[in-house]
Amino acid sequence: TQRTLVLIKPDAVRRGLVGNVLSRFEAKGLTIVAMEHRHIDAAQAEAHYAEHVERDFYPPLRTFVTSGPLVALVLEGDEAIEVVRLVNGATDGRKAAPGTIRGDLSLSNRENLVHGSDSPESAEREIALWFPSLD
Ligand code: ATP
Repeated sequence: TQRTLVLIKPDAVRRGLVGNVLSRFEAKGLTIVAMEHRHIDAAQAEAHYAEHVERDFYPPLRTFVTSGPLVALVLEGDEAIEVVRLVNGATDGRKAAPGTIRGDLSLSNRENLVHGSDSPESAEREIALWFPSLD
């Protein structure tokens, strides 16, 4: 079994899609092992997106992820990291397959509703960053 860090981003909270997104993960069979509603500051955004801070898309991404509350969670299950990325769909909502969260609910490359860790190393780092007291 594996754990992964998921963010239900501020666009999803604003649009009232938290329940819709959470139900998809639960229906898939993943277990919620930690969850918190939180409004992050620029420092937390930078720590989370450390690998992207030099990219052109980072300043607007930081503005977006700090623009309102989000829901951070840790999901657990068999191959959870890859499964969450499949459920989330491609980064750009306009290109994401129907049936995925982004494919069904987003038309944007930035405001794409969710984040999921992209590797076991990222999952370990991100879970420690968001939920330092989780065993
Ligand atoms: P995430 O890491 O959030 O699950 P991802 O792995 O599909 O998404 P990354 O390439 O890691 O995408 O980019 C992180 C986030 O930065 C994206 O989810 C999106 O919100 C934003 N982003 C990525 N590329 C662009 C872009 N070209 N223009 C605008 N925003 C972007």
